[in-house]
Amino acid sequence: MGNFYRDNKDIENVIDLLDLSEVATLLEEDFKFAKEYDFAPKDAADAIDNYKRAIDLCGDIMANRIAPLAEETDLVGNTLNEDGSVTRAPGMKLAIELFGKTGLMGVTIPYYLGGLNMPCTVLTACNDIVSRGDAGLMNLFGLQGIAETINWFADEEIKKEYVPRLVTGEWTGAMVLTEPDAGSDLQSVKTSAYLDKDGVWRVNGVKRFITNGCGEVLLVLARTEPEFSDGRGLSCLLVEKGPWVKVRRLENKLGIHGSPTCEMVFTEAPAKLIGLRKRGLITYVRRESSSVSRSTRSPPCANSCRLCRSSSRRRVSSPTTRRRTSTSKRGSARSSSRLRERPRHRPSARVSRSTRRSTRCLPRWRSTTAPNFRCATHRARSPFSAARAS
Ligand SMILES: Cc1cc2nc3c(=O)[nH]c(=O)nc-3n(C[C@H](O)[C@H](O)[C@H](O)COP(=O)(O)OP(=O)(O)OC[C@H]3O[C@@H](n4cnc5c(N)ncnc54)[C@H](O)[C@@H]3O)c2cc1C
Repeated sequence: MGNFYRDNKDIENVIDLLDLSEVATLLEEDFKFAKEYDFAPKDAADAIDNYKRAIDLCGDIMANRIAPLAEETDLVGNTLNEDGSVTRAPGMKLAIELFGKTGLMGVTIPYYLGGLNMPCTVLTACNDIVSRGDAGLMNLFGLQGIAETINWFADEEIKKEYVPRLVTGEWTGAMVLTEPDAGSDLQSVKTSAYLDKDGVWRVNGVKRFITNGCGEVLLVLARTEPEFSDGRGLSCLLVEKGPWVKVRRLENKLGIHGSPTCEMVFTEAPAKLIGLRKRGLITYVRRESSSVSRSTRSPPCANSCRLCRSSSRRRVSSPTTRRRTSTSKRGSARSSSRLRERPRHRPSARVSRSTRRSTRCLPRWRSTTAPNFRCATHRARSPFSAARAS
């Protein structure tokens, strides 16, 4: 019996070297969930043990069930049927089913939505293991950001409707951004959305190169404000799979054939607005695609330095934010999602402007390959710098 976690000392070392107890305490909100869910950890040691078990399970599934099928999955690939539906390779179906049953399709999603409520560190380790076993599957497994984005920004009702089904693998999703004339330059997106006379958003346009575009939950970047021709006019809308979305082509790729890359046409597709209008690219897509922001509930940039992250989380529950949150309960669900965007990285006044810039957008590898990485603000306190000094 192989295990892609246990036989990979790199991942094991990183997990052992990272001090996850602080993160665990913050995510578990001082372990209050243990009273509500019998599987929730009771203390930091218990939480870290859970994290390792989750990665271990991922390593087991990949080594023994999925990797042996990876070659076949890649050879079989996906088939576009005449009715526009896509048939996946058997290995892909099995993987989604297994990961759905184990909860590993919702690693960072909170308990009440069916997830494991674990830090992005666990998801990153699982991503590593999955990509080793089947690179095509990694493209689907890595789409957990769809559930994360809905969890972060959507109204409670939408969250409860979609996130649990994504976590169980019943549904899969896609991040639908790229167009024939808008790839790197997403500000040029032309797919449009308008409110019809019944107050329902309708999406029209063509999208291209969409991983798993045949999935059930599509987060679409569309222009809701025709008066703006740049990123300010774009919003994020959720479109469910249906006759209004047609996959008209699957890309021919050199590899990762298990992952369907779709060209899609939207015709009067009914949609739900995720979060606020005009924030599609500026806030939501940047968060989803930014490599530094995959940590659920931690604000962008706080992912790299664990001390920054801890303090940002503390800020989230600071008296000021608590006051705002209680006001939001009285207000609409929409205003509550607006408040959730507020916590931002605000370095202390003592930090120089250049340091602020350098800590703002650090690539993800720093958080995974440099355990205990600390930003310039916290570096002075690092045990590594003390060792170097001596
Ligand atoms: C396998 C696969 C899966 C994908 N999955 C998804 C998905 O799920 N959802 C989705 O929305 N998109 C997806 N994409 C699309 C992907 O995000 C785009 O391909 C990417 O954004 C680049 O856009 P483009 O292909 O139009 O290239 P272009 O934007 O035309 O870029 C071409 C080249 O020009 C360079 N370039 C572009 N702008 C500049 C600049 N200002 N300065 C210097 N160089 C520049 C680029 O680096 C690149 O080398 C996928 C693509 C692939 C290949």
